[in-house]
Amino acid sequence: SKGAGRARMCFFSPDMRNRIIAATQMEQSLRSALSRQHLEVHLQPQFSLQSDASLEHQLPRLCGLEALLRWNDPLLGNVSPATFIPIAEESGLIVELGHWVLGQACAVLEDMAIRGHQLPIAVNVSQVQFRSAEFVPQVAALLKRHAFAPDMLRMEITESLAAEDEADMLEKVDQLAALGLTFSIDDFGIGYSNLARLRRMPLSELKIDRSFIKDLRLIDDDGLAAPAPGETPGQEVCHANEIVRAMLVMARALSLEVVAEGVETSEQFEVLRQLGCQRVQGYLLGRPRPMKDVLDEIEAGVLG
Ligand code: C2E
Ligand code: CA
Ligand code: CA
Ligand code: CA
Repeated sequence: SKGAGRARMCFFSPDMRNRIIAATQMEQSLRSALSRQHLEVHLQPQFSLQSDASLEHQLPRLCGLEALLRWNDPLLGNVSPATFIPIAEESGLIVELGHWVLGQACAVLEDMAIRGHQLPIAVNVSQVQFRSAEFVPQVAALLKRHAFAPDMLRMEITESLAAEDEADMLEKVDQLAALGLTFSIDDFGIGYSNLARLRRMPLSELKIDRSFIKDLRLIDDDGLAAPAPGETPGQEVCHANEIVRAMLVMARALSLEVVAEGVETSEQFEVLRQLGCQRVQGYLLGRPRPMKDVLDEIEAGVLG
């Protein structure tokens, strides 16, 4: 009928329609960026505070790298992964994209192994990649093609997981762990935490989400946090310290290493050191930078 026709035409609001068109165009641009090599992997250093116990102030030592995708499009400019990753996930392009990133990481790991550097690289892996039937065999093929110790390749996965995918995902994680890969839970604390599942997974690490790190404050002798500029002394900042402390206790119970993400200030760094957090990552110690620059610094021994 006429009414039904009109209803169908009105299904998408103009705003929604524009967003769908924008997403479709972005997907096409991303597809051509992948084939024309307009994508790049940057590496962000991770540092460990475990070092010579006799030192009063432990010096941060380079202990790993996180691979982060960068897209500099000739027309669109720099597009943030926060924008294009969700689009790549919805269109399924993430499977190809994610495989390309893993290939880049494997090439760097092989290159480092040849030069005698043993340093793990963490790659972000989307749940959509896990759903692909080819995922495990493709990763196995990459490991065959590149010579490096498989435990140097770490997969960062998030907690948010649809229940119907759980069994399949756990099985694939187990298969990849059997190949020697290690696993890290990304953005810990903001997703749907299921401690039973965490305990069952062959994890080696938790990454505490930046939103918890940003509120860390040094506590004075009188138990009050010094307020940041423009901030009145409140209770919330004290809670952040206690939440991170609790996460560290929980991680120890699960025998997991902990990485604090998004460490931007020396105050956050100092609180983490006092709480006994052993690994840190963030702009304070090093931003994500082009692979070649990071490798040159590792080779020159200037990165720590
Ligand atoms: P993520 O995995 O949580 O990565 C950390 C993000 O925080 C990165 O943003 C990094 O550049 C940024 N960051 C690091 N240190 C600091 C800091 O001290 N302060 C602040 N404010 N930010 C910091 P980026 O590179 O824009 O990536 C955003 C997200 O996109 C990532 O979050 C990850 O979820 C996703 N992503 C990036 N590359 C890939 C990829 O190759 N595959 C997949 N599936 N996702 C990716
Ligand atoms: Ca990550
Ligand atoms: Ca993260
Ligand atoms: Ca994130």
